[in-house]
Amino acid sequence: MSTTDTNASDELVINKDRVVSFHYRLSEGGEQIEDSAEESPVLYMHGHNSMLSGLEEALEGRKAGESLTVTVPPEKGYGERREGAQQRVPKKHVLTKGKLSPGMVIQINTKEGAQEAVLLKVGLKNVDVDSNHPLAGKVLEFSVDILDVRAATEDELAHGHAHGPGGHEH
Ligand code: ZN
Repeated sequence: MSTTDTNASDELVINKDRVVSFHYRLSEGGEQIEDSAEESPVLYMHGHNSMLSGLEEALEGRKAGESLTVTVPPEKGYGERREGAQQRVPKKHVLTKGKLSPGMVIQINTKEGAQEAVLLKVGLKNVDVDSNHPLAGKVLEFSVDILDVRAATEDELAHGHAHGPGGHEH
């Protein structure tokens, strides 16, 4: 057990068990589709498969204050699109409340619990959904600004994930 000198924390590079926070902008096909500045920064513990593998690889060895652009192919992002992922679901299994419109991501109740799916079509009694991740099969362009890199706490090491504001609640 060692106590880390907090003054040295800005010297830390990203590697296994470091807790990293960053902001990102995500573009696909030249169009920006997400900007984390509208929400809290992303917080994760490096080396625990909690982050897209393409992003983790690019962040390895980096430091707080650095910015980078990363191209993430499907196999290191949200995977390839699966065939046969489209299905017709009775409306009573739709958990998302409010008006349903095609293109939105909804929650549906399945035997394995709640799952996200992209809504394709709304019928009278059923909806057609695609359970592929909306970003499956896409080449993603991330612009990343690394805000903070720190050592994990003992709690975080025991749990295998980062704790912090906006990161995780028990
Ligand atoms: Zn935890």
